[in-house]
Amino acid sequence: MNAQLTALRRHLGEISDLQSIAGLLFWDQQTMMPPAGALNRGDSLGTLARVIHARETDPMLARLLDALEPWAAEQDPDSDDARLIFWTRRDFEKAVRVPEDLAAEMTKAKALGQHAWLEARAANDFKPFRAALAHHVELRHRYVACFTGFDHPYDVLLDDFEPGLTIAELRPLFAELRDALVPLVAAAGNPDQPRNDGAFQGEFDAEAQRVAVLDVLEAVGFDPDSWRLDPTLHPFASGGGIDDIRITTHYEPGDLDSLFATMHEYGHGLYEHQVAAELDRGPLASGVSLGLHESQSRMWENLVGRSLPFWRMFYPRLQEKFAGALGGIDLDAFYRSVNQVQPSLIRIHADEVTYNMHIILRFELEQEIIGGRVALADLPEEWNRRMWDYLGIEVPDDAHGVLQDVHWSGGSMGYFPTYTLGNVMSVQIWERLREDLPELDEQVERGEFAPLREWLGEHLHRHGRKYTPEETLAKVVGGPIETAPYLRYLRDKHGVPAA
Ligand code: ZN
Repeated sequence: MNAQLTALRRHLGEISDLQSIAGLLFWDQQTMMPPAGALNRGDSLGTLARVIHARETDPMLARLLDALEPWAAEQDPDSDDARLIFWTRRDFEKAVRVPEDLAAEMTKAKALGQHAWLEARAANDFKPFRAALAHHVELRHRYVACFTGFDHPYDVLLDDFEPGLTIAELRPLFAELRDALVPLVAAAGNPDQPRNDGAFQGEFDAEAQRVAVLDVLEAVGFDPDSWRLDPTLHPFASGGGIDDIRITTHYEPGDLDSLFATMHEYGHGLYEHQVAAELDRGPLASGVSLGLHESQSRMWENLVGRSLPFWRMFYPRLQEKFAGALGGIDLDAFYRSVNQVQPSLIRIHADEVTYNMHIILRFELEQEIIGGRVALADLPEEWNRRMWDYLGIEVPDDAHGVLQDVHWSGGSMGYFPTYTLGNVMSVQIWERLREDLPELDEQVERGEFAPLREWLGEHLHRHGRKYTPEETLAKVVGGPIETAPYLRYLRDKHGVPAA
């Protein structure tokens, strides 16, 4: 059996290496590559994707799995080997079910869809994007038809981002959130007030922002031996392995969002960095799902990065760097302004309360699109109606409404819910870890982040992708996902009594 296991690990190790190379090419494209390199890079990434796909669907992999599965059934089901074989089988079955011509069509439609979306956005009109979206929907249905054993078409799409999660579980969870959040937003938010209460009006020099961001990062646990920070248009976390973590951020001269965006990406990076070394160079060496990944980014961005203990520590240092803009603003005013609830048009700029309404809106529309219950021509109107119902906001045009996100342009559906799942789980995990770290607030205020990092590593990160998302969450918090802790946190923080 050993020879077969060694052969399996070697094969998976090579796939993992190729994926790391693809990740580095993507990182390079966003940070270093001269713009005209895009065509060459497209060819390189395309070839690499085909090589990876061929290895992932290699019949040799199926033979190794067939030989190893009876052996794995006799092992401890929680052992690394048994789990490796379980996930490799699952990944293999998913990969071989999608015919090559469909995969190629999806790739082509992605490029065409993004092109049509950019045109539609420039024209501020949904119509030029409609045909591309209709084609994506048709391709999604053909993709769904490749799989059996799912109760609902949307479950297949969800499974790519949050393995095992079903719409039957998600619907009541999101309905609960929607019913609680609409009145919470109405009570805590003020659509007539300018964003940030005026605290962030001023000039924030990009180089000074970079220094401030690094100051924060080095305090929370950014070690230059294993981490890099670079500027990009859209922040992301990527890298070449557990000791090669690359995060990016974006500096806008008129605000300090770069600080929160960087904390967010730090959370993603730390998850990947703290996966157990034994799992490295294999399919288990990554975060288990987008939802749990987002629980980590949101935790660092919001539960740490928008907390009073954190700013007690960092605000004086920030004020020093931006004396002109922040000199006259005291800690309380700053804290209030970075936590202000204010309904707004654009998801990626939304505060931590209203953000979820943007997601719930998209989740509901995706179900209607996939279910054929909304004519695509009516999509902008449906979008705008919900923005009014949920956030009391009037959408002025398609660019600030239905066309704002990149996800649908590439045919991606089922992705949005993971953002809100992350928010919800972040507070469940936070409540649990505070039981073990009763002095967390004092530690944060002293700039001691090692206890928090180590707790997360020990209870969540080290597992990587060894268990299912559901099992992983249960290992951390002792049960399934639930909304109560999150809603309690929002109500407490924003001074809204429970209904
Ligand atoms: Zn994220």
